[in-house]
Amino acid sequence: MNAKIRLYVEHPLGAGQSVPLGKGQAHYLFGVMRQTVGGAVLLFNGQDGEWRAEIAEAGKRGGVLACTERTRPLQMPPDLWLMFAPIKKARTDFIVEKAAEMGAARIVPVMTEFTNAGRVQRDRLQAHAVEAAEQCGGTYVPEVAEPVKFRALLDRWQAPRQIMFCDEALAGDSAILPDVIGPWAVLIGPEGGFSEAERTRLHRFDHAHPVTLGPRILRADTAAVAALTVWQQRLGDWT
Ligand code: SAH
Repeated sequence: MNAKIRLYVEHPLGAGQSVPLGKGQAHYLFGVMRQTVGGAVLLFNGQDGEWRAEIAEAGKRGGVLACTERTRPLQMPPDLWLMFAPIKKARTDFIVEKAAEMGAARIVPVMTEFTNAGRVQRDRLQAHAVEAAEQCGGTYVPEVAEPVKFRALLDRWQAPRQIMFCDEALAGDSAILPDVIGPWAVLIGPEGGFSEAERTRLHRFDHAHPVTLGPRILRADTAAVAALTVWQQRLGDWT
């Protein structure tokens, strides 16, 4: 039988390995997806690639899967972070989902001066990243970091990571991404944009490269996807 259901598990995967399922995943697999003993699923854990597994036990509160063969090696994304100022809940969820699909290695919520989002629910965002990886065939799940204040982020910045600073004030100019190989981070501002103090600091910051995303002002969620697209195409794993 062809295994189409993909599940992220926090458990080692390998030939003959048994993988216990928690209540949530058992409910999804047996209750929602109507799978039964003998059925096949695909598993990944962010480390051991993708494995085909057979359902060995199926219950209401749990179950056991048995790994049979590796179907894909681990594919790490490029060392690219997405740093963004959280916006409204549903749009923030969207940004995390798209960042996982686009192959960001780490997702960092950044509290800037004009950030007006409420508390960031890290666990909820992490769950969105897991779902996106399950859905897009990824074998890696980007970590959603604890939110960090803009100033602390730059104060503690570690070279040689470069910042693709998406500056709406440059819309229409021709600032483009330099060809620097190595670790990078995309930086997207909030709905209100960056403050003048933040913009000045970023323009002076050694590792930040101001870029434009075209002549139109994009919403933050659109800008995040556009920036990741540009980066992946120029310096990432698209080629
Ligand atoms: N309120 C601001 C727009 C903020 S858009 C204004 O009217 O000027 C949210 C974020 O998306 C920005 O901070 C920036 O990081 C990014 N962004 C949107 N459009 C952009 C563009 N054309 N070029 C570069 N960055 C852009």
